[in-house]
Amino acid sequence: LRLCHGCSVTGQQRRLLNHFISKAPESEPEPTATQQPPLSPPPHAPFTLAVKDNIATTTHPTTCASAFLSTHHSPFEATIVTQLRARGARLVGKTNLDEFGMGSHSTHSAAGAVAQSSLSLGDDEYSAGGSSGGSAVAVAAGEVDVALGTDTGGSVRLPAAYCGVVGFKPSYGMLSRFGVVPYANSLDTVGLLARGVGRIRELVVGDGGVAGGLWKEADSRDPTSLSEAARGRCVVGREGFGGEQKEGRDVLRGLRFGIPLEYNIEELDPGIRDAWAKAAKILQEEYGARVVPVSLPSTRHALAAYYVIAPAEASSNLAKYDGVRYGTRDTDAASDAAGGVLYAASRGKGFGDEVRRRILLGSYTLSSEAMDNYFIKAQRVRRLVRKDFNRVFALDNPLHERETFDLTDLDESIEMEDKWGPEEVDFLLCPTAPTLAPKLADVMKQTPLDAYMNDVFTVPASLAGLPAISIPLPVAPETENVTGKPGTAGLQLIGQYWDDARLLAVADAVS
Ligand code: GLN
Repeated sequence: LRLCHGCSVTGQQRRLLNHFISKAPESEPEPTATQQPPLSPPPHAPFTLAVKDNIATTTHPTTCASAFLSTHHSPFEATIVTQLRARGARLVGKTNLDEFGMGSHSTHSAAGAVAQSSLSLGDDEYSAGGSSGGSAVAVAAGEVDVALGTDTGGSVRLPAAYCGVVGFKPSYGMLSRFGVVPYANSLDTVGLLARGVGRIRELVVGDGGVAGGLWKEADSRDPTSLSEAARGRCVVGREGFGGEQKEGRDVLRGLRFGIPLEYNIEELDPGIRDAWAKAAKILQEEYGARVVPVSLPSTRHALAAYYVIAPAEASSNLAKYDGVRYGTRDTDAASDAAGGVLYAASRGKGFGDEVRRRILLGSYTLSSEAMDNYFIKAQRVRRLVRKDFNRVFALDNPLHERETFDLTDLDESIEMEDKWGPEEVDFLLCPTAPTLAPKLADVMKQTPLDAYMNDVFTVPASLAGLPAISIPLPVAPETENVTGKPGTAGLQLIGQYWDDARLLAVADAVS
């Protein structure tokens, strides 16, 4: 059942895509015994892996695409890399990104912008999306089987949508973040990109959930990784983790998909809107699923809340880059006796514009004069976003009590579309991004706010810690304003917390 065609990599022309920051030597040294997880899963077929350069590896530098860390070699390897090596991964290289994961087009990089380019796109260079743009391009170009990215507010899903590949963001706390350079801890997740859902499913869920599934492995080195006991509680009532999992048409029959009305925004490209409606129609008419409108009223505040919370956490995380313990020191200032000069000079040179903007924004919203109006309010919105999701999903969120919807949480009142009622659905179906990949030349003319807008459909799931996946959604080439643009957008499926196995099965069935 093909709602979406698979990604076509034929006709890809190798130009200077700038998607790798470093590449592995031909023959990579075998991992040492100490890098193996204690319980070795059964041998898996070898596959090639690209790793976003904000994830620590010992075989390559880990630069985060920042001038500050241009020579940084991590003394340890991220758990996720070790776990994938144990499942047959051969690391091909480290991919380019927006510095520290901050951006939506992989243009804010000390290593230069990533471009996506193929014969079908003519001479123009298009945005690869961000911040895991290098990983998405490496997968789309057929250079690797799987790529690792990080998704804080959409950084795996958006590049997947722009590049016509699959991008999966797991439930928060499922995959270990040990060795992943933090951007905004309460939102950061490790995500996977591949050309098909099957490969990601195999790694995350494993063989029927019995062996090899990454979802099972708690990591005590990551305080936000769910403990084994918590994982045990979360799988209660969830399909696909070890138990029976329906496949193909069977998984779709009788499922309820919610169309969030608030995602039908004015800025949505008409071609994407049509493709979204068509996908919903196929699900309903051909595959026996039910498609119902749902309302997530806090959606319109989610983007603003995200751009308060993420920079606030970033400003705190990035305070450690001082040119003394971390990061390249500004040697001119180093001779100056005053420590503050060294700190300021090193940070002034080490960080790019976007990162500095986030630090300023975050420092301001956390300051005593602004805290109540920004950070505290944003946390309230985050709670409302989470409640919205809990209200529409049939499954309960194992981390939160089911709450009644409280309209008094915000100073301003929020209208509730009562007529849509608390329709309980299995998954939400929406676009990944409001537009197709823009031309790089146009991105360069955008204001920072324009770039933030791209994340409007991806940040709600991030704020709520929910699993979400972007699969390729073909957009009709004859649509007036998409002529000459890449013909693939992203269809996003969002599931209730820890419903990852079923989400992947459903995505597999429709792609
Ligand atoms: N574009 C978003 C941001 O700049 C998301 C980034 C991410 O998910 N790492 O914050």
